[in-house]
Amino acid sequence: MTLFLTTACNLRCTYCYASAGNATPKFMTLETARRGIDFVAANAAQRRSPYFEVGYHGGGEPTVHWPVLTASFDYAREKAAELQLELRSSVATNGVLSGPQIDWIVAHVGGVSLSCDGLPTVHDECRRTASGSGSSARVIHTLRRFDEAKFPYGIRLTVTAEHIGTLADSVEFLSSEFHPSSIQIEPVYLLGRGREGGLGGVGRIH
Ligand code: SF4
Repeated sequence: MTLFLTTACNLRCTYCYASAGNATPKFMTLETARRGIDFVAANAAQRRSPYFEVGYHGGGEPTVHWPVLTASFDYAREKAAELQLELRSSVATNGVLSGPQIDWIVAHVGGVSLSCDGLPTVHDECRRTASGSGSSARVIHTLRRFDEAKFPYGIRLTVTAEHIGTLADSVEFLSSEFHPSSIQIEPVYLLGRGREGGLGGVGRIH
């Protein structure tokens, strides 16, 4: 199952499909997360699956809702132990994480999909913090920490029409500086601020 924990985000990406930051954010309760985990765990046991999987994803940044992410993960682990199932897990994140959050993810989660748009100049044009500064330094720090820990992660790179010309350089930068298991390149979704910005993907920040 995939839990979309919140619509809140610490970034304001120009092309954000969810327009994160535009509206009052919503947060999932721990009770709702537990109900979902109960459902998939029971389903896995009934079907004699050896595992069930919990993923944390966007529509916002899941790590912003940290207490429910960690508490629901603990609950999923308890449930898996009770039913003698393996728990598989993943987090999709923008990589703007604190040191303790990185430590926790490395110690607990099976793998991460981390969004990074390549060259720091390109990344900083598109993926800004809520206060308007670039986020590449924070993301690079997280990537280095993952590499030091030999933690498995893939990079998700969103490319705008404006940055197609530097895409090869961005891939070269990511693959020479870091050790992702994959680099997944996707065009801007024409949703949210991506739609407002048109095919160029340079949406307005409200
Ligand atoms: S695309 Fe950017 S602003 Fe939107 S949810 Fe993801 S990290 Fe946040």
